[in-house]
Amino acid sequence: MGFLDQISKQISQGVDRAKFEAEKFQKTTRLQGEVNEVQRQVDTRMYELGQRAYELLRAGQIHSASLNELSAAIDQLRSSLVAKEEELKQAQTEVFVEPPPTYTPPPPSQQVPISYETPPASDPYTPPPPTKVCGACGFQMPVTAMFCPNCGSRVA
Ligand SMILES: [Zn+2]
Repeated sequence: MGFLDQISKQISQGVDRAKFEAEKFQKTTRLQGEVNEVQRQVDTRMYELGQRAYELLRAGQIHSASLNELSAAIDQLRSSLVAKEEELKQAQTEVFVEPPPTYTPPPPSQQVPISYETPPASDPYTPPPPTKVCGACGFQMPVTAMFCPNCGSRVA
């Protein structure tokens, strides 16, 4: 079998498999729906049966301790249902009442220390160094100088 024949066989197998999976999905979905529908019908009949039994029990036509128990539980649930429904009605009629404007003090601000930082060293202000003037030529020089760098005179 040639290479292309093998590829073509693999592709057709892939198609068969995809088709099988699609049909399987369709079939199981349909059957699941049918199962659900029959289950729903069983539940409905069960409910009706329960209602009839409850009525017969109430009418004194059935005597059963276990049914009495169930019926008592239903009565209790029904009365709590009535109370809940009343509570719900009350909650539904509640209307929003605008609260009177009240002054709410601002939340205490966090104490953030304000830092007076010295300016960055990149731009420092350096005061001019103290100077003195030469008595002979008037040249300005550092106070530490002992001789004038201009004329060489001794300065005090
Ligand atoms: Zn000088």
